[in-house]
Amino acid sequence: MTATDKARNFLEQIIEKDLAEGRVSRIHTRFPPEPNGFLHVGHATSICLNFGLAEKYQGECNLRFDDTNPEKEEQVYVDAIQEDIRWLGFKWSGDVCYASSYFDQFYDWALHLIREGKAYVDHQDAESMRINRGDFNKPGVESADRNKSVEENLAEFEKMRAGEYEEGKASLRAKIDLQSPNMNLRDPVLYRIRKVPHHQTGDKWCIYPSYDFAHGQEDAIEHITHSICTLEFQDHRPLYEWFLDNLPVPARPRQYEFARTNLNYTVTSKRKLKKLVDEGVVGGWDDPRMPTISGMRRRGYTPASIRRFSEMVGVSRSDGTADVSMLEHAIRDDLNTNAARAMAVLAPLKLVIQNLPEGEVQEMTAAAHPNRPELGQRTLPFTREIYIDHEDFTEDTMLSRKKFKRLVIGDYVRLRSAYVIRADDVIKDENGNIVEVHASFVPGTVGEDPPEGIRPRGVIHWVSATHGQQAELRIYDRLFNHPAPDRGEEDFLSHINPESLKVMQAWIEPSLVNAAPEQTFQFEREGYFVADRCDHSAEHPVFNLTIGLKDTWANKG
Ligand code: ATP
Ligand code: MG
Repeated sequence: MTATDKARNFLEQIIEKDLAEGRVSRIHTRFPPEPNGFLHVGHATSICLNFGLAEKYQGECNLRFDDTNPEKEEQVYVDAIQEDIRWLGFKWSGDVCYASSYFDQFYDWALHLIREGKAYVDHQDAESMRINRGDFNKPGVESADRNKSVEENLAEFEKMRAGEYEEGKASLRAKIDLQSPNMNLRDPVLYRIRKVPHHQTGDKWCIYPSYDFAHGQEDAIEHITHSICTLEFQDHRPLYEWFLDNLPVPARPRQYEFARTNLNYTVTSKRKLKKLVDEGVVGGWDDPRMPTISGMRRRGYTPASIRRFSEMVGVSRSDGTADVSMLEHAIRDDLNTNAARAMAVLAPLKLVIQNLPEGEVQEMTAAAHPNRPELGQRTLPFTREIYIDHEDFTEDTMLSRKKFKRLVIGDYVRLRSAYVIRADDVIKDENGNIVEVHASFVPGTVGEDPPEGIRPRGVIHWVSATHGQQAELRIYDRLFNHPAPDRGEEDFLSHINPESLKVMQAWIEPSLVNAAPEQTFQFEREGYFVADRCDHSAEHPVFNLTIGLKDTWANKG
């Protein structure tokens, strides 16, 4: 390892120590999503962390679905999660793993605990169980079932498994310590009855293990060495270890906690994201405004930008909130380097070049990228009628060159990758609105300086009115207009930014109709756009605004 590869965070320090001291010969991590929604940007950082560590230390990383909660889980989520991870550029070790593949093993281990006198079937309802568990100031109270014999418990557990009890009428609990200051150790539930089919195991089970009873044992079965989770599981660690101590597990994983990634102007909770989808606030889980991986993908984020963002937020041991502008910066930076340039006119104003005959087409060539000749060139048809942006023209001849570096009546401007032109006249409708500008081009100015005495005010973009194409542009902005949409008393839905989507028609340079879905562009002077991966076609071009050229939120406070 070189000096630049040195440990970047506390987890890397731990791993390097474990490898150096021989506690492990190779690291094995895992990413364990519950398939109850699409993954979001917070999960993306956890993916980059777990898979990234395995890459860095030549270990392995499993993808394991933590599917112990059948009523909230669905196959579509299982599929979407795999797609997201592949798209981010990571490869899991071996086959996809499922907690549900270990249900037989968990069941045997439950029997093991019962036989050892370390688990019992409790018939208290959920409410009594909660009350009798006590709290930090109040000791727990034993259930009448706590000291029943092993035989009775085996028989009761068998009845649970056979479906003889209704939901809520019995649960299997570990017999640990009802006085423990750590509430997780006050006889946690190992199995509960849920009479619902499971997306992987069908009708085989009507009892399902709890997260706590499943997670560490899954890690042990898969020989995970470093089980990395978020901080809220810190208090569960003694329980994680209790199971490993009390079960004949094949390996001894260790749990480490790091802080969740929180982002301002964003909600990162599958439950709340599901609400946005279910209530039709957004078009779906992959709506380009969603902080889901699939939403960001459709918005035009690249895997590299998301990986870069994960590095920027790093790994921390205490909770904090990252600025969403970091994420935006990561994609802007990536696209500035990698996106091809193109021209699109969003607020078209017709400009007629009087000294260019009707029907004449001159082919201009322009680099796809100013600093990357290897990306090639494109051809721009230059015709008598073109569109420029309304904002790029004014009749106000008093505006100084410094204030208005665009087209002014009687003055010159350069058309990007084409001629210098002069605006000669305007045509207005009966209400006085400008509908057309008449102009003339200065011959010999393509790629050449204009003659002495002609000083263009600036450079503006344009599209041929006869050869350009129309496209639908979806102009996205942040979904929430509040920095902490779900941290206050009020409903997070009250902070939806009403301006988060505007749909408009624009004129685009002709080559853009052939854009491949997901191809990204900088529409010069407008922003970074991506061909929509679902709706874009040559017949109906659709581009999504990924991000503006500059951060327009920076000064909004
Ligand atoms: P949510 O609250 O959004 O439903 P979750 O933690 O319940 O998230 P899981 O599917 O259980 O979602 O998470 C899979 C993995 O991703 C876990 O290891 C979890 O700790 C991690 N993870 C979830 N949210 C974040 C986040 N915001 N930042 C970093 N890691 C996260
Ligand atoms: Mg969870």
